[in-house]
Amino acid sequence: MKKEIINKLLEEKAAKLRGEKLRISLLKDKAMQNKTYFSLNSQKNILEMEISLCIFNGKDCNAKEKELKKIKKEMTLNLKSMGISPADFEIHYDCPACKDSGYVNGALCDCINSKLSKLILSSCGMPENPYSFENKNFCALPEAQKEFMDKLYSRFIKYCNAFPDIKYPNALFAGFSGTGKTVLTFCILKKLAEKNFDVKYTTAFSLNNAFLNYHTDFKNKKSLDEYLFPDLLVIDDLGTEPILKNVTLEYIYLILNERMISNKATIITTNLDLNGILNRYGERIFSRITNKSNTFVCRFSGEDIRKLL
Ligand SMILES: [Zn+2]
Repeated sequence: MKKEIINKLLEEKAAKLRGEKLRISLLKDKAMQNKTYFSLNSQKNILEMEISLCIFNGKDCNAKEKELKKIKKEMTLNLKSMGISPADFEIHYDCPACKDSGYVNGALCDCINSKLSKLILSSCGMPENPYSFENKNFCALPEAQKEFMDKLYSRFIKYCNAFPDIKYPNALFAGFSGTGKTVLTFCILKKLAEKNFDVKYTTAFSLNNAFLNYHTDFKNKKSLDEYLFPDLLVIDDLGTEPILKNVTLEYIYLILNERMISNKATIITTNLDLNGILNRYGERIFSRITNKSNTFVCRFSGEDIRKLL
């Protein structure tokens, strides 16, 4: 998704630049229709050629240079009479730093980077919400849970700061509805999007529909790239989707496995407990969701949570 957004921004810049070049060429045509300007312009071209020759032959060209200066002045005055200033012939760049190419020394220019995070956020699939690490508020929670949430949020602020070089890139947030699992994923998604990482949010239900479309629609096959390639994929509410034969388990495994191989982070929330996950998805998927070597498993309820931290 990030790649597509960058390409779109670069194409917008290129189109604007093409527009500028066209504007200048039309303006030049207009000026050339003025007989005086046309004649002065021809004189200027001849003089410039003669001066080059003089310099090449080592001859004195002071007189010709003076003449050229005079003609240029006349051209400017003539342009003014047509309501044109010489600056109108120059390209007006939106971003002088990259001259609207989008790149500075081979790296993306800030004019692109500054727009990226907003566009990543608005297209990552996350519903609009007011939550972020900056405005977290646990006042309403019981004391024990407040302490837990503070620790948990600190942990994931560090996670975002160090991303993607982290020991446990994956996480499983298990627990009942309304315990704040999804809200924490929103905070993480926003923070990483702010840092221009490619992030994607989906509910397990929507993901399952995407799998079904991919599996059955051969005409308009939409690829699964949007789930395979983001730096972080959040799958919300695993367990609420229907298990479709030959689809759900096969594609969940494919996505999790491919992401694990390419070291991409995945965070899953679920109302199921570990046994529930094992029973519903089987050993192959269970071992990827709860892989101790790269996954932080956290239960969002009561005493269990603190033991896991
Ligand atoms: Zn720029």
